[in-house]
Amino acid sequence: MVDFIADYYNKIETYPVLGQVQPGYLRTRLPDTAPYCPEPFETILNDVKNDIIPGMTHWLSPNFFAFFPANVSSAAFLGEMLCTAFNSVGFNWLASPAATELEMVVMDWLANILKLPKSFMFSGTGGGVMQNTTSESILVTLIAARDRTVDVVGVENMRKLVVYGSDQTHSTYTKAAKLAGIHPRSIRAIPTTADTGFALSPVLLRRVIEADVAAGLVPLYLCATVGTTSTTAVDALERLTDLAKDYGVWVHVDAAYGGSACICPEFRHHLDGVERVDSLSLSPHKWLLSYFLDCCCLWVKNPGLLVKALSTNPEYLRNKPSDSDLVVDYKDWQGFIKSDPRFEIVVPRRFSLVCFRLNPFSWSGLGYTELLNRKLLEWVNSTGRAYMTRTIVGGVYMLRFAVGATLTEERHVIAAWKLINEGADTLLKGSFYAV
Ligand SMILES: *Cc1c(COP(=O)(O)O)cnc(C)c1O
Repeated sequence: MVDFIADYYNKIETYPVLGQVQPGYLRTRLPDTAPYCPEPFETILNDVKNDIIPGMTHWLSPNFFAFFPANVSSAAFLGEMLCTAFNSVGFNWLASPAATELEMVVMDWLANILKLPKSFMFSGTGGGVMQNTTSESILVTLIAARDRTVDVVGVENMRKLVVYGSDQTHSTYTKAAKLAGIHPRSIRAIPTTADTGFALSPVLLRRVIEADVAAGLVPLYLCATVGTTSTTAVDALERLTDLAKDYGVWVHVDAAYGGSACICPEFRHHLDGVERVDSLSLSPHKWLLSYFLDCCCLWVKNPGLLVKALSTNPEYLRNKPSDSDLVVDYKDWQGFIKSDPRFEIVVPRRFSLVCFRLNPFSWSGLGYTELLNRKLLEWVNSTGRAYMTRTIVGGVYMLRFAVGATLTEERHVIAAWKLINEGADTLLKGSFYAV
């Protein structure tokens, strides 16, 4: 298996990045029932080679520029092997003391690296815990916030609770709010515009909260984002927390992707104001070289509220001082798009995601430009030589090019840019007839 995996990594560039199969392809290739007799290992690996790999989208390919990268490292691979070998179940301290204590130590390490205040660390007054996903981090903190507020306003006022975010907050937020019992009409998605770089406007938020309070509703929770999924917009934590404090609103920071960059001194300012928020989550499986397994780090100022609301085992609250440091390297490329007048960068690049579009004709309407970009994306992805995705923000259809797969080198970015140009050339040649 190790050889097979090593082979896969060696050959990864030879596979189309985006799986080139039709829905239902696998059912026609596999038997209707599980094999009755055991099969040789070689046969099974051959099935993987012939039937599974062609249907995969290769997230580790250096030509993967879609969504956000899911980058990994040899260190993470070995760690996963060891975890699998141990199969340790650490639901409470006694079930596996080392698992709990290591998690505490490492959460403090990471908090230290991010220069989070002591109020988020076990060596201070808070603590961190690994959740599976951002969705879970939002859900558990929302439930803690809900119970804290319900203790004050009474359960009969559950229906009055209102939660806030922007129209750029990750879609998982709405789901978490519904799961926490917030009425769908009480989930505010405040509109953003290009003027604020698609960040949440504190002025608008104040207006919405004031209107809610005037209507007898109870502001509960604000989800601010550092690095939104569409365009990596950053909500201004300092001003938002000022406002939230006035209304006793729990502030959670979703830094799933952008948070990792804040390890670098030059990006740390995006977390300015974090000392006043209640919780923060960051997913190392997005940009910190960890595997996509159970790896969303959540820090809370008042772990007691979480434990009270969720009745999980309180062992992880034990104070465990820790002082250590770690270095992580990053890569970041930009430049090509600005050099070609047919293209434009739609929102300023902040981290390693570039949002751009092909916009060659000043006279063309939004509809035409969107169609052109849709076709370009389809063209690029269908080659199998690169994979990127798209978004629509502020009514503008744009392409998302997220650099950060572990194996990606500068040459892959250059090749992808050439490919995008080739697509643009092909489409624009065609469009002379269409126009
Ligand atoms: C990816 C992402 C999420 C969703 O993360 P899950 O771990 O899949 O729940 C949430 N918020 C932001 C900003 C993201 O980039």
